[in-house]
Amino acid sequence: MVGLGALFSVVCFAVTMQLLSGGPTPAFAEKTPAAGQNDTSPHQTAAQPTLEQLRQQYLANPYNPVCKKNLESALLMAGVEFLKQKRYEEAAAQFEYAEELFSDDPQAALLRGNAAYLLKQYDLAGTELEKARNIGGDSIDVLFLLGKVYYDTEDIRQAVALWELAAEKEPGNMTIQNLLAKAKRELTVDAGMGKGQSSRFILSYDSGIKSEVADKVLDVLGDAYNQVGRDFGGTYPESRVPVIVYAGKDYHEVTGSPEWSGGQYDGKIRLPIGGMTEVPPQVRAVLFHEYTHVLVRELTKGNCPVWLNEGLAENEGRKEFDPPLTELHQAALKKRLLPLAGLVGSFTSLQGKNVYLAYQQSYSLVKYMITAYGWHTMKELLTALGEGSSFDAAAEQAYGNVGQTFGRIFTEWQELIAAGREP
Ligand SMILES: [Zn+2]
Repeated sequence: MVGLGALFSVVCFAVTMQLLSGGPTPAFAEKTPAAGQNDTSPHQTAAQPTLEQLRQQYLANPYNPVCKKNLESALLMAGVEFLKQKRYEEAAAQFEYAEELFSDDPQAALLRGNAAYLLKQYDLAGTELEKARNIGGDSIDVLFLLGKVYYDTEDIRQAVALWELAAEKEPGNMTIQNLLAKAKRELTVDAGMGKGQSSRFILSYDSGIKSEVADKVLDVLGDAYNQVGRDFGGTYPESRVPVIVYAGKDYHEVTGSPEWSGGQYDGKIRLPIGGMTEVPPQVRAVLFHEYTHVLVRELTKGNCPVWLNEGLAENEGRKEFDPPLTELHQAALKKRLLPLAGLVGSFTSLQGKNVYLAYQQSYSLVKYMITAYGWHTMKELLTALGEGSSFDAAAEQAYGNVGQTFGRIFTEWQELIAAGREP
């Protein structure tokens, strides 16, 4: 039941980083009289005109091409800075304004498409990226991003076609090669899949699964949408969530996930439900668990320690099916709890019973944080993470408001567990 939110955020990061390092980092076209000497960094210095000054210069000289170009460049740079800080809406606003000035600039369209993609506004992202492609041709960035848009909206065939073009242009680009290989494996499985959808989810399912069962899965997901969304203080995804249900071994083949994995979220919820005619509580729990990862990613933009992410997912999943916390109780007795620092990254490298312990420990700690200090504080923590804060800074902000520190909360939880009690 590993949720690969972390993996997905790496991919997202790669999107942005590739765009940032790969080319379209804009520079000022020409210096205005007030401009500084050689500094083209996006950070304002005393000698460099501010965005507002450039805007005023342009408004005073609307037909001066230099003033117009300088404003556009400054807007693009400001937008890129916002992208780096994961402030996607503010980034989108800068790119939109830049595009109003230069409607034929492929860079403005590409960056606006990138921001829209990160905001999951897939229609707008597709339109902007197609426009960038029409004007500027097939750059690696545009093929890569447009492929991501198709992939995330379940048009895997189109995504593969675009990434094949990108791979021809840059055979050594491993980001492209890895995405392409994964998408091709999916395409093979996808060819024999049935499709279903609701207003919230796009469901694909193996031919071995009856459509009635697929409908039941969609119903459970609808429950998760309502219940988990309510628990998260009214948090709902920006766009429809892709869900892929596998009949059997295809799940492990496509995802490459370990034997113990019963589901995962890597931007799409994936789970195996071979041979079932009903959705048993265990599978309801997996669906609630994986759907929680969707909301955590929505709130934190992928900036979330794995123990917190898994703890939140377990907390929702265990409302549907709650097996005993055997490993946690044994580890507490023997004083062999896993150090929290080892649970910040992926659990996939953990061995044997430590996998279960990692999930149970994460669940118990998160449940304590919520029970003792409320959902409100938890949501504040997640929101601060989503604004790019480190965990320590986000925790200080959220728990400082209630006169606590995360260190003390962690100690309280340890004492509770050591005393054989549960949150
Ligand atoms: Zn998980």
